[in-house]
Amino acid sequence: MLVDLVTIFPDFFHGPLDFGILRRAREAGLVEIRVQDLREFTRDKHRTVDDRPFGGGEGMVLKPEPIFECIEKLQLAPREERVAGRASESVILLSAQGRRLDQRLAAELAGFGRMVLICGRYEGVDERVSEHLADREISIGDYVLSGGEMGASVIVDVVTRLIPGVVGNADSTRQESFTTGTVEIEGAGPRSTCISGGLLDYPHYTRPAEFRGMAVPEVLVNGNHDEIRRWRRKTALEKTLRNRPDLIEAAELSEEDRELLAEIKAPTLAPRTR
Ligand code: SAH
Repeated sequence: MLVDLVTIFPDFFHGPLDFGILRRAREAGLVEIRVQDLREFTRDKHRTVDDRPFGGGEGMVLKPEPIFECIEKLQLAPREERVAGRASESVILLSAQGRRLDQRLAAELAGFGRMVLICGRYEGVDERVSEHLADREISIGDYVLSGGEMGASVIVDVVTRLIPGVVGNADSTRQESFTTGTVEIEGAGPRSTCISGGLLDYPHYTRPAEFRGMAVPEVLVNGNHDEIRRWRRKTALEKTLRNRPDLIEAAELSEEDRELLAEIKAPTLAPRTR
């Protein structure tokens, strides 16, 4: 996948995209990341990228001209082609007003061959960018960041690890929190076909088996695979119920899941308090 990051702070990306899985994916050529400095697309002496808002009010707004010129230089397929799904490219505007990023959207983006991420700053970006240039607006959560760069880094991270071949063992991304099914990479519906089934991940432990008097759950060291599987499913359900009950409602639960939930909710198990 080719990724272009459009920003007024090109140096921002030295660091966030240079470690671990992302670094290896870049080195292996599975993802290529280029940073486009918006100021290079200005024409005035001061390299102005922002201006005051029409209608008055606080702050500054990123001007449309440098952003349009930058995207035009990237020679993408026409916007209509992209929006109609006839080009494997997506131009994304980072925005607190966008569709909220989740694992399903990340899987959809991982299917593109090319992604352009436009990072806003100040009070935001001239709306004509969203109306006529970008294909979609994405928010990384219900809070306001001071710029789109953090959001773009988050998108690049979550999407990269879903690109086939990036994470050595594909099963490990299938089993993670939120994952509802690998079929979604092809843009199919929300079928629950895999292990996490839209729940949070189960707890992980490693050696030592006992640390400062804190022991690893016995079931994990006894080697009974069926018991381990059941324990993991149960703790995943328990954690999801505690921290994200909304996900339980949306998940496709099996007969066994319902039994485990009943065990979790049984009155003999006192509900956890914070
Ligand atoms: N006035 C805007 C906030 C602007 S913050 C509002 O109230 O919605 C400046 C820039 O940070 C935005 O243009 C956007 O690119 C980025 N940004 C802020 N919050 C974000 C979020 N939750 N997700 C993605 N990008 C965000």
